[in-house]
Amino acid sequence: MTCCKENNLGLDMSLTEGFKDFIDDDYIHSLIRDRKENLPKCREIFKKSLSKQPLSVEETAELLAITSEEGLHELFETARELKRNVYGNRIVLFAPLYIGNYCINDCTYCGFRRSLRTTVRHTLSEEQLINEVKSLENEGHKRLILVYGEHPKYTPEFIAKTVKLTYATKTNNGKGEIRRVNINAAPLDIAGYKIVKEAGIGTFQVFQETYHKETYAKYHPAGTQKGDYMWRLNAMDRAFEGGIDDMGIGALFGLYDWRFEVLGLVTHALHLQQRYGVGPHTISFPRIQPANGLDIELPYRVSDSEFERLVAILRLAVPYTGLIMTARESKAIRDKVMEFGVSQIDAGTKLEIGGYQKERQDKEQTLNEEQFQVGDTRDLDEVIHWLINRDYIPSFCTSCYRVGRTGEHFMEFAIPGFIKRFCTRNGLLTLAEYLEDYSSEATKKDGYALIEREIAKMTNEEQKKSLLERLDRIRNKGERDLLY
Ligand code: SAM
Ligand code: SF4
Repeated sequence: MTCCKENNLGLDMSLTEGFKDFIDDDYIHSLIRDRKENLPKCREIFKKSLSKQPLSVEETAELLAITSEEGLHELFETARELKRNVYGNRIVLFAPLYIGNYCINDCTYCGFRRSLRTTVRHTLSEEQLINEVKSLENEGHKRLILVYGEHPKYTPEFIAKTVKLTYATKTNNGKGEIRRVNINAAPLDIAGYKIVKEAGIGTFQVFQETYHKETYAKYHPAGTQKGDYMWRLNAMDRAFEGGIDDMGIGALFGLYDWRFEVLGLVTHALHLQQRYGVGPHTISFPRIQPANGLDIELPYRVSDSEFERLVAILRLAVPYTGLIMTARESKAIRDKVMEFGVSQIDAGTKLEIGGYQKERQDKEQTLNEEQFQVGDTRDLDEVIHWLINRDYIPSFCTSCYRVGRTGEHFMEFAIPGFIKRFCTRNGLLTLAEYLEDYSSEATKKDGYALIEREIAKMTNEEQKKSLLERLDRIRNKGERDLLY
């Protein structure tokens, strides 16, 4: 394909027309308008979810209509149960690393938008990037998501270079390393995705922000790259065509009716599943947060109780898609919502560019470089200790991606026994690495007690023996990265 329709960023726009608009706004509205709770029908849908079948958009709409105390209680219980069955008690940990906040777009909710003159703009130099990665490794991180504004500076080649530099940066005699780099950047063209794929990325995330076209136009001014709804809606189709089968979708909750966005996300997931045989690897559901210079009206703000509902419903609708809850949310909300189906959270998050190396006291200065405010400001060790005390296994596992269990293969493996064979044991191995190399004494004590409890639960003697042998190699022989 020659670049016959280049836009001002040099992106090949010609392929946009090849993909279709799979979001029918009127149909989605018709599914949520005036719908009343039908608990008997919902109970049938709960059963379907528990058998780990993805729900249709219509079934998801039924769940969105639940408002009674009894119905909500059953909804949350079902989500808890499904989460335990599919994901066990692991929570995967990562940190975002902001690479640069130059942006040519003008999303009215974002602290990086181009018209905001008070934002201090910066792109990490190679040296600064390496120092940031070293600081994150020294905290114990193994998984990062690199985040970029949208700007001609941030070409696919630039993104690929930052990914390779991140992987190449090691500390602590190789014990400190980043094993998985995900990306949250502007949508690329197919050629661009190929370039970043070759750099060894994990998930490529693009959030649609809102699936509702009228609202989309309101928050993303026409004439900007992001103002093109279809270019963004088909971002993951192009990613797949570019060889990326590990895709992350999301919506920014608070721009429009949360029920519409849930159905938009489910429609998107089903579209990818149907067209490419691979659903999204993750779904994110950030709620809009205060940002530098943010003074827009948000009539659709999502309350805490609505937020709990939407997470539980997403869990039931897409049983095999990881759900990511970021540190935008407070500790209290994270504590509550996690049990309804979240599988990944970030920890020790710093959003200002270069923020992992410097302790900034001047909050105003900090906010001027941040995209929005963080709700959970605890460091990684505090978050890990908190998870352990709640009987979750904090996991830095990166195994599936590295041994080729992604995309279609991941779906194949996401069958009974998968968690026990791979995830739980990999999670425990990466936790032991953390406890040996980076943890506080208190976390180490409680962490090993959790590992003991998990070993005691194991019924397969062969699996148990192999795990004990690997744990011994980590603790007593200094070996690392012993993945299943
Ligand atoms: N610039 C790229 C883009 O817009 O896709 C990628 C990075 S952008 C920094 C990542 C995400 O942050 C956006 O997709 C949006 O959902 C979210 N975001 C922007 N402003 C926010 C705010 N005020 N509160 C919470 N999340 C926000
Ligand atoms: Fe730029 Fe992304 Fe912020 Fe929009 S959300 S202004 S594209 S950084």
